[in-house]
Amino acid sequence: MPTAGGPRVLLRRLREIMAEQTSAQMRLDKLVTVIASNMVAEVCSIYLRRAGKLLELYATEGLNRSAVHNTRLKEGEGLVGLVSETAEAVNLSDAPADPHFSYRPETGEDPFKAFLGVPIVRGGQVFGVLTVQNKAERVYAEEEVEALQTVAMVLAEVVAQGGFFNIAELDEPELRIDRPRKFMGEGLSEGVASGRVVLHEPRVKVERMIADNPVEELKRLEEAIGGLRESVDQMLMSSELDLTGEGREVIEAYRLFAYDQGWRQRMRDAVRTGLTAEAAVERVQDETRLRVQRLGDPILRERAHDFDDLARRLLRHLTGESGHQVLPHDSILVARNMGPAELLDYGREKLLALALEDAAATSHVAIVARSMGLPMVSGLEGISDNARGGDAIAVDGETGEVHLRPQTEILNAFEEKRALRQKAQARFAAIRELPAITKDGVPIRLMMNAGLEFDMPHLAESGADGIGLFRTELQFMLGETMPRLADQTQFYKSIFDAAGDKPVVFRTLDLGGDKVLPYARWEREENPALGWRAIRIALDRPALLRYQVRALLVAAQGRTLRILLPMVSDVDEFNRGRALIDRELERARLLHQTRPTQVLVGAMLEVPALAFMLPQLMRSADFVSIGSNDLLSLAFAVDRTNPRVAKRYDSLNPASLTLIRLIVQSAAENSGDLSLCGEMAGRPLDAMALLGLGLRTLSMQPGQIGPIKMMIRSLNLGEVSDFVDRLCGRTDHSLRTRLAAFAAERGIVLK
Ligand code: PEP
Ligand code: MG
Repeated sequence: MPTAGGPRVLLRRLREIMAEQTSAQMRLDKLVTVIASNMVAEVCSIYLRRAGKLLELYATEGLNRSAVHNTRLKEGEGLVGLVSETAEAVNLSDAPADPHFSYRPETGEDPFKAFLGVPIVRGGQVFGVLTVQNKAERVYAEEEVEALQTVAMVLAEVVAQGGFFNIAELDEPELRIDRPRKFMGEGLSEGVASGRVVLHEPRVKVERMIADNPVEELKRLEEAIGGLRESVDQMLMSSELDLTGEGREVIEAYRLFAYDQGWRQRMRDAVRTGLTAEAAVERVQDETRLRVQRLGDPILRERAHDFDDLARRLLRHLTGESGHQVLPHDSILVARNMGPAELLDYGREKLLALALEDAAATSHVAIVARSMGLPMVSGLEGISDNARGGDAIAVDGETGEVHLRPQTEILNAFEEKRALRQKAQARFAAIRELPAITKDGVPIRLMMNAGLEFDMPHLAESGADGIGLFRTELQFMLGETMPRLADQTQFYKSIFDAAGDKPVVFRTLDLGGDKVLPYARWEREENPALGWRAIRIALDRPALLRYQVRALLVAAQGRTLRILLPMVSDVDEFNRGRALIDRELERARLLHQTRPTQVLVGAMLEVPALAFMLPQLMRSADFVSIGSNDLLSLAFAVDRTNPRVAKRYDSLNPASLTLIRLIVQSAAENSGDLSLCGEMAGRPLDAMALLGLGLRTLSMQPGQIGPIKMMIRSLNLGEVSDFVDRLCGRTDHSLRTRLAAFAAERGIVLK
C-alpha cells in the first residue's frame, strides 16, 4: 500500500492540525497537503456543501488554487457530485474517460487520470466530498479507500461540531450541525410549545474518534460485541417474555444481526484504519443507514432500525452509559417513532410536546399524545439525526412546523402563538356553560371522544354533553397482556364514575387494521384495512366480546349502558353481535346480577355498503354513529395509514357530502338516532358542512368542543343547509375554499 506512514500517522497529523490556533482556511489548506502527501497523491481536495446543494471547492493541493471558492458543482454534477449524490466512494483509474466526468478548465485537472472520492458523512447527511487524484492510471487499493473514508469521517465530525474550524469564518451556515433548522411535518395533536430536546433514543456521544492504541481498541470492540451478544441471548431466554410465534421470530432475527459477521468485520476494519471502537461503530452505522435510505425498501428500513438499535446498545457497552436520562422540566421528545406505552412511561409532568419522524395520524402514539394534551408533529424526516439532547426546539402541532435551535425571533413568535392560543382557550372556556345552539335556534349535541382515563377530566373542562365514542381497544393495546375481566370491569366503572350523569358510548373492541395488540399473534394480512378486524374478530372469537360485555354490564349497574359495534358491514352481522350481547344480559339475569337500567346497542357506519341498509338496520339498532375516518377511506379506496395516499381525497369532496346526505336522509326517514364521531366532527369547516347536511350530534376530540361551539353559535343553519345542498352538485375535488368563503362572508367563526 503506497500510503506514506499509513492511516494512523495521518490521523495523528490530523489531530495536531485540529489543535492549531490558525484560521479555518489555513487549517483546511494544511489538511489537504498532509493528506496528499500521506496518500502519495498529486491532488487532494475538499468540497463542502453549500445552501442549494452546491458543492464548492474549499481547499486543494495540486489543482489550481485560484479555483478555490470559485469552482462549484451541483449535486450529481461531475464525479464529485456523483459521490455526494450516491454517498458512496468512487474509485476510477481513468476518470476523464468516465461519462460522469465534468471538465472544469479553471481547476487544471486534465492531466490527472486516477480519481478517488469519498463522501464526508455524519448522521446520514452528506456534508461534502474528499478527493485524491493521481496522474498515473491506477486503481486505489481497498485499504486506501478505507483510509480516506476514515479521514472523511473524522473531518465530518469536526465540521459538524464546528470544533475544527470556525464555520462562521467560512461563512457557511449550511454546514453547521448546530445551525437553526426548520422542519415541516403534519400536526397530529394541537398546541404550541417550545422547550428542550430529549432524544427518545439518545445518540451516545462519541468523545474520542482517533485511537491511541489500535490493538487495545480492537480488544474493546470485541469485548463490547461479546457483551452485546450476551445481553441479546439473555433477552431471548428471559422467562418474563412469553416468546413464541412472531414475537420470537422478531427477537431471533435481531439476535442474528447481533451475530452478523459482516457487521462485525466492517467495524473491525474501521478500527484498523485508526478509529476508536466507538467511532468505528458510528461509521459503519452511518454507512448502513445511507445504503438503506438509498434503496428505499420499507423492509430494509425496518432492518436498519434493528441495526440502529444494536449500534446504540453497542455504544452503550463501550461507553458504559446507561441510556437512562433525567428529564428537564421543559422536555420535547424527539424520535423516529415510539409506542404508546413508551410515551405513557415518560408521564405528563415534564413533557411539553413530541416531534417524530414517522408516526401516522391514527397511530396509537398520536391518540395517546392527544389524550395527554401534548402537541405533536410527525413526518419530520431526519429530525432525530439532526437534533441533539438539550437543543432548543419549538413545535406547532397545528401547522406541523418545527424549529430546531430556533433564533430568538422564532421563539418569540412561538411565545406569541402560545399566548394567542391561551386567549382563544379562555374565550372557549367562557362559552363552556352556554348551549351549542345556532343563531336560528337549532340545538346541537356536542360529545367528546375518549379512550383513556387521562381523557376523563376533559369532559367537565370542555363542557361536552357526554362521550360519543369511547375507544375501548386502547386499554387492550397499551398493556403487555390481555386485560382480565376484573381489570376491564374496574376500568369501565372508573369511566362511568368520572362521567357522572353524562352518557358514555362504549365502542366494543375495534382491533385489526392499524390497531394491533402487541401480545396477540394473529396472522399477518395482505390488506389489514380490509381484513379481519373489529366485529369480524368479535363474531369469530365470541369470547372476547362476551367478556367485554360482561364487564360492561357489571360496571353499568343501575345506569344506561350504550354499546357501539364497530365496522359493521351488514345488518345480519349487527344482529349477530346484538344476539351475543343479549346472551350476556340473559346470563346476568339468571345470576341475579344488578343490571343496567337500559342497554342500547348501536352500529358504527364505516363500511359504505351499510349506508344502503339503514331502513333495515334502524329496525334493530338503537342508534348509528358514522365513523367518517373509515367510511371515507373505504369510499375513496384510500388507506388512511399510508402517507402516500392518505391525503389524496378531501373529506369536503362533493361525493363525501352526498354520501353523508344520503345517510342522514335515510336515518331521518326511519326515525333513527344518528351521530358522527370521526375526525371531521372536530374540524370547524367540516363540522359546518355536516350540520348543513342535517347532522345534529357530533363527537370529537375534547379540545375541539370550544371552537366547534363557537362556530355553531355564529351561524344561521338554514342558510348553511341551502348552500351545502347546492354544493353537492359540483365537481370540485374539494369544496373547502367555497365553504370557507361562505363562512367568511357570513361572519361564521372558524377559530
Ligand atoms: C372512524 O373510523 O371514523 C372512527 C371514529 O373510528 P376509528 O378512528 O377509531 O377507526
Ligand atoms: Mg373506524
